[in-house]
Amino acid sequence: MSRERHILGVSGGRDSAALAVYMRQHHPTLPVEYFFTDTGKELPEVYEFLDRLEGFLGKPIARLNPDRDFDFWLSEYGNFLPSPRTRWCTRQLKLRPLEHWLRDDLESGTVVHSYVAIRSDEPSREGYQSTHPNMKVHLPLRDAGIDRAGVLEILSQAEVGEPAYYSWRSRSGCTFCFYQQKIEWVRLAEHHPERFKEAVAYEKTALNDGSPFTWTQGESLTELINPKRVEQIKLDYEQRRERLRRSRRINPLSARTPDSVDEAYGIDEDAGGCVICHK
Ligand code: SF4
Repeated sequence: MSRERHILGVSGGRDSAALAVYMRQHHPTLPVEYFFTDTGKELPEVYEFLDRLEGFLGKPIARLNPDRDFDFWLSEYGNFLPSPRTRWCTRQLKLRPLEHWLRDDLESGTVVHSYVAIRSDEPSREGYQSTHPNMKVHLPLRDAGIDRAGVLEILSQAEVGEPAYYSWRSRSGCTFCFYQQKIEWVRLAEHHPERFKEAVAYEKTALNDGSPFTWTQGESLTELINPKRVEQIKLDYEQRRERLRRSRRINPLSARTPDSVDEAYGIDEDAGGCVICHK
């Protein structure tokens, strides 16, 4: 008789947390295994949020740690920082531990049902299709017509709330994620100065070793954190936020004041990321 497993990846972000709550509420008898792939470079707020979510779910979220850490892979890649073009971080620190966790079961015929947090208001996206014939991907939020507002409602009603980092940063994921906006690097320096320093140190080593990539496009973090540059980034951010606010006033259907960094920037919150990192 073939075995079955039901898995749900929690990223530390809103959507996957709402999906976990939804599955607990609507399929309480399904033996869902919740997991989190831990790169070792997560924000402290992520762990606090996972603890809170575990409290609601009433069961542990398995922490999948990579067999080799960020520093190992960084050295393997010649100290070149991960970047949108060479995204070794996702491959080695997020996908590889998951593959290790499932490989034996998939190969021995176990059907793995994977529940993925794609909302009903999102365009179709690649990256969450099944990668193995025994892996079946399900999109319960989309199937139930749950959009962004629905996600917020689920989290609020369950009293799980949101991760604290949403007050200054709009994506889940690693502390140093290169997808973050310049204003978010500035805020990382304000909220977690030690982590910012660590990012600067990684970048200096990378540049010394000939890496063409800095963490953020077009400048190093040392340049970005120069007080004059910080002032400019904050000003750009406020101006863009104001432009967006004005354009939204014109459109009565979207009159809400933006409440997150990406919203304020008018940036598609899902652009460029991947399901396993940012949902
Ligand atoms: S969150 Fe960013 S840095 Fe972390 S694994 Fe994903 S893409 Fe890489």
